Amino acid sequence: MAIRRILKYGEQELREPSKEVTKVSRKIQDLVHDLLETMYNAQNGVGLAAPQIGVNLRVFVIDVRETENVLDPIVFINPKIIKLSGSVVSSEGCLSFPDVYSDVKRAANVMVKAMDVKGRSFVLEAKDGSLLSRAIQHEFDHLNGVLFIDRCEDVDFTDQELAKHNLPKIQQDKLIRE
Ligand code: ZN
Repeated sequence: MAIRRILKYGEQELREPSKEVTKVSRKIQDLVHDLLETMYNAQNGVGLAAPQIGVNLRVFVIDVRETENVLDPIVFINPKIIKLSGSVVSSEGCLSFPDVYSDVKRAANVMVKAMDVKGRSFVLEAKDGSLLSRAIQHEFDHLNGVLFIDRCEDVDFTDQELAKHNLPKIQQDKLIRE
């Protein structure tokens, strides 16, 4: 296990689509442990996706034990979003954007299917705009090279926040308007 460097906005791997995991091998389990260790080492992190440590594979981890009635960190390998419904706007941040927060609209409810660290399939539903629901959608986006600022409610405000923290501007061609 090792603490890995978290890539910052502007680094290329964050924009690349990630590949499916073909087998939950020892190497993938090591990756999961590194993601967890790196997330716990960072402050305020409730989720971390493999591209954020420079690995373009479809893996992310979430730990919302502090705020929600969830017992363990959750590992998602090859996640598929089965269902999205409702919508809710809330402030969001990302470990690849230190200290930047911006309002983002997400589905209130999400149903996701994935494999766990032992390669077992599971289905999980997160509802009512919970932190878990938001985190799943945020981390899932990372696997497609999509970043939370692409979905921000207020582009000018977000650009100011990015500039304050010496991060590149919003890429207009990446903006998602749904
Ligand atoms: Zn993120």
